[in-house]
Parts: sequence; C-alpha cells; structure tokens
Amino acid sequence: GATLAPYVAKFFKSGPHVSSKETTTLEFVPPITVGAEGLIGHTPMIKIKSLSKLTGCEIYAKMEMLNPGGSAKDRVALAIIQQAEAEGFLTPHKPEKDVIFEGTSGSTGISIAMLARAMGYDAHICLPDDTSLEKITMLESLGAIVEKVRPASIVDKNQYVNRARYQAERLTNDESTTRRGIFADQFENEANWNAHFKHTGPEIYAQTKGDMDIFVTGAGTGGTISGVSQYLKSQNPHIHTVLADPPGSGFYNKVKHGVMFDSVEREGTRRRHQVDTIIEGIGLNRITKNFKSGELYIDDAIRVEDNESLKMARWLVENDGLFIGSSSAVNCVAAIKLAKQNGPGIKIVTILCDSGVRHLSKFWKEAESFNQVTAEDIMNI
Ligand code: PMP
Repeated sequence: GATLAPYVAKFFKSGPHVSSKETTTLEFVPPITVGAEGLIGHTPMIKIKSLSKLTGCEIYAKMEMLNPGGSAKDRVALAIIQQAEAEGFLTPHKPEKDVIFEGTSGSTGISIAMLARAMGYDAHICLPDDTSLEKITMLESLGAIVEKVRPASIVDKNQYVNRARYQAERLTNDESTTRRGIFADQFENEANWNAHFKHTGPEIYAQTKGDMDIFVTGAGTGGTISGVSQYLKSQNPHIHTVLADPPGSGFYNKVKHGVMFDSVEREGTRRRHQVDTIIEGIGLNRITKNFKSGELYIDDAIRVEDNESLKMARWLVENDGLFIGSSSAVNCVAAIKLAKQNGPGIKIVTILCDSGVRHLSKFWKEAESFNQVTAEDIMNI
C-alpha cells in the first residue's frame, strides 16, 4: 500500500514494463497441467552456445533435468504406472494403497516416490545399505518406504533388485490385505523404451524440425537410447545414432564389436562399472531388454574418460551456466568428439539427464580440482 508507493514510483517512472495489452501477445503460453504428473515431458531444448561456437557445429541438448522429479526417469515411472493401471495391476487411491516396488539407488527411485504420491500409491524402494545417506533421506522425505539390504551379486535372491521383485510378489499374493504391488523393473520393463519412443523421440524430432545429423547419449537401462534412436530412424534413417559410454561399461564393446568381452566375469558383480568410474546412472555389463530392443538402431559408440567429463562439467558451468550431473557431462564430451570427427556445420543433439545437485558429494567434489578449464582443453578432448 501506501509505504510502497515511492518505491514503486521510482522503478516505474514511465509506467509498468509490461502493459496488460502486451501480455496477450505472448508467443508461448505455458499450459496449466493437472497434477504433478502433468508436468512430465515436453521439456525444452537448448542450443549450447559455448560448445557450438568452439566447434562450428550446432550442439543441442534436451533438458530432461527440467522434469518435475529432476530427470528423464519421470517419463519412465509414469509409463510404468500407467501401463500397470491399464492392465489392472494397480488401482489408485485405495483405502489401503497399492505399492510400487523398485530396486534402485538412482533417479528412478526418486521419480517413482514422487509419482506414487501424486497418483495415489505408496512407493517401496530397495537399496544396498551402503547407499549415501543423502539419497536415502531424499527418498524418505518424498514419502517412500526405504528398505536397505546387504550388498550382494545380482544372482543372489537378497540383492536389492531381486528383493524388490520378491516383495512385490509377496504383497500381491498376501490374502490378508487388499493391497497389491507391482515391481517396476526399469531394466527389463519395455514400458521404459516405449515412453522414449512415444514422447522423448517425437519431441526431439519436432523441436529440431527433423533437421539434425547425430543423436548421442549414454545408456543405463538403455531405455532412452533405444526409444529415441528407434523413433528418429523411423522418421529419417539418415540420422546417425551414437552411444556414449563411461569407463568399465560393456555397452561400448557390444555396439562396436557385437559382444561384451568380459560379461561373464562381471555378470555376478554388483555395479562393477562403478568401481572404475565416478560416473553414475550410465554404463552396465549385461544386456537389458531395454537395450536389446533398440540395439539395431544404434550406429556407433564413443568411450568417454572420467577426466574428460569432469573438465566438461566445469566448462559448462563456467561458460554456459549449466550445472549438470555426471552422465550429462559424458553426453556433452561425446558430442564434442563427434563434432571434431565430422567437422563444422553438423547438428548434434544430446540429453542433459539430471542436474549437478544430485552429484555434489562425488562427481562435483572431484570436479573442484578442474577449475581452470580452457577452450583449448575442451577442443583437445
Ligand atoms: N543419466 C542418469 C542420471 C540416469 O539415472 C540414467 C538411468 N539410470 C541415465 C542417464 C540413462 O538412461 P537410460 O536408463 O534410459 O539408459
């Protein structure tokens, strides 16, 4: 009121900056969505200025980190829940809520926890007991039941993914309750790549108006690369699709040579690739259904070293104000390598999967020592 009047007058000497008439000429009116689930997808795409300028290429990134749960996994969690509802395995808002089970210490757990609450379910997330306290607290704050299990190999029935599957079956077969459960199963559930085929791929194609040469991204479950590559190729078989892979992951060899050389040795070991790399969320040493379904649509693979990703992350925050997570940094390094291989003038699209916030204690702690990254360093990657 009255006390603000001089202040307002000082700032709006010539009247308000935007007249009510001007607001009606907005080019883009953000829609009103129904519930948190309505905010998923339709993410913007950014042209990364510094990398485009350095390489003479056009380097674009789909901003999956802007989904409400902070990553592309929101799309996957939503697709899995919607599919289970359509098939009658989940019913929302029951007096005793149905439960979504998953074994993950990553972004999928966060997306499931958030969507469970938004859509009338409980979430039950199984984790290895050496998962960082930060992640456990976050899941619990989102209302999920968190079950910590002793780290074990994936052939062990008490391994956290197997434990989630077992818990879902046990609840569903329990006659003493009306509660039912599903095992989300992001690695094997094909609702995952389908979500990217139906949404992420078409959005990328529409945003670039189909005018793009290369799509490059990493694979964790393989859902993103399978779904997006398959869609892009269905529209234009000349779009080149490339997998970006961190150290220790077998996907690179699978794409390059048709085999995962040391898959037998590594099959039984838990998160083997994480021993070799600080990158989280991508890289694996077994073939998932989600990877397999799109494998034929992946043309090439690029290996990315940890120090290259660390330099890239520092560069992007300093030069573009983009604070990204470790898998996004891998993607951007791969984009630069492709730009150099192919020469100026081409259009490359990648994905910024999640923000740096979830990677503060590991990746960004390491990145602190890369504080003077030059344009030359980036071009020498
Ligand atoms: N980045 C992050 C941070 C992830 O958590 C994941 C999935 N685990 C990926 C990238 C890879 O996506 P996808 O599972 O679709 O291969």
